[in-house]
Amino acid sequence: MKNLNVWPNPSGRISPCRSTSPTLSLVRFVPPSPSSVRCHSSLTHHTFRCAVLGAGFAGLSVVWHLLKQSPKELNLRVDIYDEVGIGGGASGISGGLLHPYSPKVKLLWEGAQCWKESMELLRVAEEASVSKDYRTGESADNMEAFIAHKRGILRPATDMKNMIKLNDNVKTCLPSCRVQTLNNGEAQSLLPGVYLPFNTAFYMPEALNINSGHYLQALFRGCEILVKESSSLDSSQKQLKLHIRSVDRLSEFEGEYDAVIVCLGAKVNMLPELSGRLPLRTCRGVIAQLELHEDMKGYPERAPSILSDAWIAVQGSHSLNLGSTWEWKSVNSSPNVSSDEAAKALDELLPKASTIYPGIKDWVFTGARAGLRAMPPLTTLGSLPLLGCINDVIGINQTCKYWLFGGLGSRGLLYHAWLGNLMAQAVLSFNEEVIPSELRSWKAIEPKCSFLL
Ligand SMILES: Cc1cc2nc3c(=O)[nH]c(=O)nc-3n(C[C@H](O)[C@H](O)[C@H](O)COP(=O)(O)OP(=O)(O)OC[C@H]3O[C@@H](n4cnc5c(N)ncnc54)[C@H](O)[C@@H]3O)c2cc1C
Repeated sequence: MKNLNVWPNPSGRISPCRSTSPTLSLVRFVPPSPSSVRCHSSLTHHTFRCAVLGAGFAGLSVVWHLLKQSPKELNLRVDIYDEVGIGGGASGISGGLLHPYSPKVKLLWEGAQCWKESMELLRVAEEASVSKDYRTGESADNMEAFIAHKRGILRPATDMKNMIKLNDNVKTCLPSCRVQTLNNGEAQSLLPGVYLPFNTAFYMPEALNINSGHYLQALFRGCEILVKESSSLDSSQKQLKLHIRSVDRLSEFEGEYDAVIVCLGAKVNMLPELSGRLPLRTCRGVIAQLELHEDMKGYPERAPSILSDAWIAVQGSHSLNLGSTWEWKSVNSSPNVSSDEAAKALDELLPKASTIYPGIKDWVFTGARAGLRAMPPLTTLGSLPLLGCINDVIGINQTCKYWLFGGLGSRGLLYHAWLGNLMAQAVLSFNEEVIPSELRSWKAIEPKCSFLL
């Protein structure tokens, strides 16, 4: 692997900078030592210019970490480009279910780290949401209440064959996100009326249901606050700007930026430089919004959301989201759902949900929205997102470094925080090897025709 640890000098040329960190292959999960970025500090007059393409979970997480990790003395400009705005893609419509387990309650790859860092970014967003000058038009109290519902998630066993496996997996759960095995009586006391086909459910009391739109707005606000704070404390300048603009090709950024980080979700394949070159498949998902008449007794105040063949993400006592469909190979990224598509989704989701929560029959459909997932290949470690420097994929010798942060699949909330942190470290140290090899191994996969849009 070539040493990528270089930094642009004030004249705009690239000059090598020797890393002072120990053997790079051994520092996989350790942030680069401050000295690896401190060697750039003599370049105080140069502004390091970063373009982040996409303002979803991936884009905003990397922005936060770039601002947080950049050395005090470094002038940094971060420009975010999104054709819709914050949460304009799958992130803005996501169901918002957050826990570190597979459907069989197996701890996912690096689940502990992912969970810890997601909690940290959630804390950042929650703090920003109650900051004095929060400007969304909603009251701060309202905003905080809606960022995360901390009511836990219930996963009923739906398959006898897998019961032994599920019970085994539970033993390796995290202390910070516990999984408790409940019998029918225990589940009933949490959620009266729940039906457990095999008399067993797995309960994650710390699992969350995030309001993705509010979370992203608040995280962006957290980034703005960080810029404001560092500008008043540090000698250097930090700048952050959101541009509502469509990106047609990567070459638009050549010459203007030192680093371009591509976080375009499922639409990444639309860029001519990357089209057909990434091992990603797309999958559209529809979520239905249901409400209960106000005269009826609502969903119990502290009762958990439900994760089953369909999931129920509780929004309030009389409002919930029901998801989600899986339409593989769709290229439709529109959040809008036609009445035909909504009817089809309800036909599929309602029977699944009512098996576990028969009370859903009293709820009334009020609307639907949809998003397109960018699904990475399945590996022996699970479906891992795709990260890394993509100059070699694009195949041109640029002075700018292009990076990919994509393929978050159906677990963007879990992965975005830790991987955004790693991506920022890689960009700031110009060292791709900061990113675990498991997340870079996609480069060895030959894209198949089915990856082409
Ligand atoms: C129905 C559904 C339910 C889901 N539920 C969950 C869940 O409960 N929990 C969970 O963890 N994950 C869930 N996911 C997955 C999660 O939403 C994704 O993993 C995540 O949103 C991906 O984030 P991203 O930032 O990579 O992409 P996106 O959120 O899609 O962000 C990409 C951004 O790039 C912008 N963009 C795209 N093309 C261009 C262009 N050419 N020019 C400028 N801007 C552009 C878009 O407007 C968008 O804002 C769900 C997904 C779907 C579809």
